[in-house]
Amino acid sequence: MKLHEFQAKRIFAQHGVPIPKGEVATSAVYAREIAQRLGLPVVIKSQVLVGGRGKAGGVKLARTADEAQALADQILGMSIKGYTVKRVLVDQGVDIQDEIYLGMVVDRARRRVVMMASAEGGIDIEEVAATMPEAIKTVTIDPFLGLKSYQAIGIASSIGIPQNQFRNFTQIAFGLYKAFMATDAELAEINPLVVTAEGTLLAVDGKMVLDDNGLYRHPDLEEMRDLDEEAPSEIEARINGLSYVKLDGEIGCMVNGAGLAMATMDIVKHYGGSPANFLDIGGGAKSEKVAAALRIILSDPNVKAVLLNIFGGITRCDEVARGILAALDEVKPDVPMVARLVGTNEKEGRALLATADMITATTLAEAAQKAVAAAHNELA
Ligand code: GDP
Ligand code: MN
Repeated sequence: MKLHEFQAKRIFAQHGVPIPKGEVATSAVYAREIAQRLGLPVVIKSQVLVGGRGKAGGVKLARTADEAQALADQILGMSIKGYTVKRVLVDQGVDIQDEIYLGMVVDRARRRVVMMASAEGGIDIEEVAATMPEAIKTVTIDPFLGLKSYQAIGIASSIGIPQNQFRNFTQIAFGLYKAFMATDAELAEINPLVVTAEGTLLAVDGKMVLDDNGLYRHPDLEEMRDLDEEAPSEIEARINGLSYVKLDGEIGCMVNGAGLAMATMDIVKHYGGSPANFLDIGGGAKSEKVAAALRIILSDPNVKAVLLNIFGGITRCDEVARGILAALDEVKPDVPMVARLVGTNEKEGRALLATADMITATTLAEAAQKAVAAAHNELA
């Protein structure tokens, strides 16, 4: 789950990272009030869950209250990379001398949290990584020892931070690490971390991505979720407890178990098709859950065929079949469906599906081939 800048910065501040004073507004008049309260200049910043807002015209400096109101009016309602701006953050303006990048991320290959820093702040870190990878310095954090001062100082010196700022930088690195750990984050980023004209460090922009699987431990963070910025299919999947990832292919896959789902996607590819999604309905899925899964798959206009691959263990094939029939009643799909049900109660399951207009298969290879052929209109 992604957090908005104002949310990420609040969390950073709670852990000792200095941020500019600021407040959120949903109207231009209120943005003006905030600007007057904070003192000018202020920065009016669109709050949408995408990067590069500055380049898109979603971050503007206002020198007067009139200008703050006019710019807020202009930015509210603006569309940035497909997201409509509903809120702006009005932050105290900062006199920027230098922009640094500081981030932490779960590095799956190293199986550690990695801290990254770069003197090339303010621009997309992906861009820096592509054009001058040597400008990004990294430090691996041991989960048992945590971040150590020598690591923070080492990275500060490697990106050329002046020595009189080491103490401030270390405090910010520790704060960011605490914020990261306390929220079960996957990513926490300050870009830019600025050196102000007064010679202090300040987190001007903040980004956080939280691990969805850790959210049950943080009901207060779950409340920060912005449903406006999520695809309806992903919201429905989450409500129904389904693991769903949308992909670009044409074959919708409904499978029980993450490993089997991966194998199903592989074999679809092997036979020349391309999966439209990853979808794990989980173990012991009841018919309502199956119906929701099918609705989600069929809501994707790219789907030209659906492949149901169910291995009945705890999950009973007849229960899944009932779910499919219920869903078919409701969504009336106009694409071919291929079903492979094996395991617990497979006979009952197949008998139920016999009443529906479905292609059946026994082996996974056969099912995948039929699904690919159906998607490509090659079935007689
Ligand atoms: P992003 O484009 O979505 O990453 O939004 P940022 O919050 O990083 O803002 C983009 C750029 O706007 C920053 O890199 C700064 O150069 C500039 N900026 C942001 N806040 C201030 C500020 O308070 N004062 C000044 N002068 N520039 C700012
Ligand atoms: Mn930024």
